Amino acid sequence: MSVEPLLKVQGVQTFYGNIRALDGVDVHVNRGEIVSLIGANGAGKSTLMMTICGSPQARHGSIIFDGEDITQQPTHLIARRRIAQSPEGRRIFPRMTVYENLQMGAGLDKMKHFDEDVEKIFTLFPRLKERQSQRGGTLSGGEQQMLSIGRALMSRPKLLLLDEPSLGLAPLIVKGIFEAIKKLNEEEGLTVFLVEQNAFAALRLSHRAYVMVNGKVTMTGTGRELLTNPEVRAAYLEGG
Ligand code: ATP
Repeated sequence: MSVEPLLKVQGVQTFYGNIRALDGVDVHVNRGEIVSLIGANGAGKSTLMMTICGSPQARHGSIIFDGEDITQQPTHLIARRRIAQSPEGRRIFPRMTVYENLQMGAGLDKMKHFDEDVEKIFTLFPRLKERQSQRGGTLSGGEQQMLSIGRALMSRPKLLLLDEPSLGLAPLIVKGIFEAIKKLNEEEGLTVFLVEQNAFAALRLSHRAYVMVNGKVTMTGTGRELLTNPEVRAAYLEGG
């Protein structure tokens, strides 16, 4: 078995015009891990997620996924390598039903597994089964987040990228969603890289984590190490 990480980001710099949003980022995610990236607003977390998906592309550095250099590949080819993203703001299709949203996530080549995959998602998120004929735009925030994750899973990803899954959700709903992510990881071996402002929930869930400040990774450790680290506690956990 290969010991190479599933995802290896090295020295990545990403710019918006002349503004450097990522300044030499090194992170890696091993197969079967849940890894999180925490940091304040504007630190560059979403930019790293988007750079992994190819838009915007990194101007310097490299991104290796499953042994392939994807740094300069277009987004649609990166998606075909089975990196699935649940983006910030969820971006479900509001006029389509829950079921149709899931169909959109599957893609034509996954249609033969469609019924089986949809059943798995309905078992993971029974609420989606109850609401399968309802339009996406009329779901609650938590249900939309479940749908966004469910839709990403329909592509049978090797790596699931989650951008702020807890954003705007009540603590109990966040708990349910994070439990579902944990279950997917433990039972299916799904590899997950997530970006979170909710540092407490993310660190509790994650095997390892990175802290990002102003486009740079400033700290890394196991979820537990960072949960008890005084600097992390002062900056991201206390009062939260
Ligand atoms: P948040 O948690 O608030 O989403 P973040 O850590 O995900 O923050 P990013 O959204 O990656 O941070 O933003 C990093 C920096 O890049 C910020 O200074 C932001 O203003 C800038 N930025 C993000 N998107 C763009 C864009 N499309 N054009 C110009 N600058 C951008």
